[in-house]
Amino acid sequence: MSYNLRNKQVTALNFNSPVKPTWCPGCGNFAIFGALKSALADQNLTPTDVLITFDIGCNGNGADKINVYGFKGLHGRSIPIAAGAYVANRKLQIIAIGGDGGIMDEGIHHLIHAIRNNYDITIIMHDNENFGLTTGQETPTTPKNQPMVASPWGVIAERLNPVQFALIAGATFVAQGFSGDQKQLKDLIVAAMQHNGCSFIHIFQHCPSYNKFEDQDWFKKRIVNIDKLNGYDRTNRIKAIETVDYSNEKRYTGVIFEDKTALPFMDRIPYRKGKKSLLKDEVRVYNIEEILEEFV
Ligand code: SF4
Ligand code: MG
Repeated sequence: MSYNLRNKQVTALNFNSPVKPTWCPGCGNFAIFGALKSALADQNLTPTDVLITFDIGCNGNGADKINVYGFKGLHGRSIPIAAGAYVANRKLQIIAIGGDGGIMDEGIHHLIHAIRNNYDITIIMHDNENFGLTTGQETPTTPKNQPMVASPWGVIAERLNPVQFALIAGATFVAQGFSGDQKQLKDLIVAAMQHNGCSFIHIFQHCPSYNKFEDQDWFKKRIVNIDKLNGYDRTNRIKAIETVDYSNEKRYTGVIFEDKTALPFMDRIPYRKGKKSLLKDEVRVYNIEEILEEFV
């Protein structure tokens, strides 16, 4: 299929796929993917401007529900695929999508290194606090002591807070959203994509099937837009870490932290300085016989 939308106004409808979602009724994924499509349209991007890398899980089942370039990887591997694509082709807008299982469990090291390297990609983490696709097992974001399908005695391990984790790893842009507020979510995705470096969005995602302990109503009582917090300074990393602690009664949404001064990965590499070409354009047949002779 070809797209010639360059001189036309793009709308969220341009990102619709003919494939019907199979998520449970009321699932937060509907709002998250709706926000994502609107965020792409707001930036007047076309489907061929965007690559999304997907994980395994309910969120990953969105892979054929949005009309952009897509790559579905192994569990926990959406981030390294996005990082590789960014290094090869910076003309694409690259988004890695994953869940609390894929990003905070199997793939947690990929999150750390994407942040350290400040790859210019956007990471969207759907956090429903369980492995939904496999019927509700615990993940690192499930509350401690919460009984789950494979741990009926209650979760033994301590809970991870993804925003604090990203901040401590040195993230240059961190936002927190809620699937019950699609409008704010759209604005956060736009802000994250506009950031020059690795942006991380943590989303509290409604999962009516397997998360009845912190459901939509539980969040609605606690969600506060961080812009309403008097004197909040989004450039203060330590203050941000304190503010989003789960021991606080509130759950703050919005842009939690931003550092506009950090250089993204490709701008830090000395031998790429001044080069305008993309790595993908430099792929060709090279004669390496001379190099190999050294080892004969
Ligand atoms: Fe959504 Fe939960 Fe159903 Fe998965 S199990 S589709 S996350 S409601
Ligand atoms: Mg999950």
